[in-house]
Amino acid sequence: MGIAAAGLAVFSVKLSAEAVLGYKDTPLLPSGKWHVHDPDRPVPPVVTPGAAFSHGAQPPSDATVLFDGTDLSKWKSAKTGDAPWKIQDGYMEVVPHSGNILTKKDFGSFQLHLEWAEPENVQGNSQERGNSGVIIYGLYEIQVLDNYNNPTYPDGQCGSLYGQTPPLVNACKKPGEWQSYDIIFESPRWNKEKELDRPASATVIQNGVVLHHKQALIGPTGHKKLATYKNTQASTGPIELQDHGNPLRFRNIWIRTIGDEEKP
Ligand code: MG
Repeated sequence: MGIAAAGLAVFSVKLSAEAVLGYKDTPLLPSGKWHVHDPDRPVPPVVTPGAAFSHGAQPPSDATVLFDGTDLSKWKSAKTGDAPWKIQDGYMEVVPHSGNILTKKDFGSFQLHLEWAEPENVQGNSQERGNSGVIIYGLYEIQVLDNYNNPTYPDGQCGSLYGQTPPLVNACKKPGEWQSYDIIFESPRWNKEKELDRPASATVIQNGVVLHHKQALIGPTGHKKLATYKNTQASTGPIELQDHGNPLRFRNIWIRTIGDEEKP
């Protein structure tokens, strides 16, 4: 029996006063087994990744380079104006509390490559340690977090489809080391009656290790909320990187649009 089902007045599970390790007062996910951010969900096993899968990968000839280490001209602030993050030695770094940044261009279904490094100076626990995210269309967050020896709720772990599906495994490298994401995202589709025809789905590879394979999203991701699609949600949008107050670094970001029209 879960904590909430037992009727106890304990709604979140804490490691310390600062580190929330999950929630039981959140809605049940459609499987009916787990709450959103359920601390009792099985923890993805740790896998030590290979040395440098796809790190420094040269963009294919048909890719759109979103960041080559020199400027943020393809990005803008989620608030207003230019992207406010700093550039140094071939990477960009989150300026904490300056806000998210997003691509000026919209994309539909795509293959995305990016690399990131967690802050070497480890601070905070659970969701407060090295938190960022790749937020597709500003709606669907693939979590970026320092989960190297840092427990948190499984559906908020690095590589989770946040608040929905934990990664199959924990393939995190040590803070300070460069890591890679290769993400294949298929956009949601709507029929003429504006009903959902096809949910969004994601395949995510971290450091050469599969975290998700064509995993359907149950709607836009959110904190302590049950995701649901709305018929007004788009099938294209920008790629957004999250400022969660931690100075992560990003480099070598490129994207390829993938045609996914219905084939006869
Ligand atoms: Mg995040």
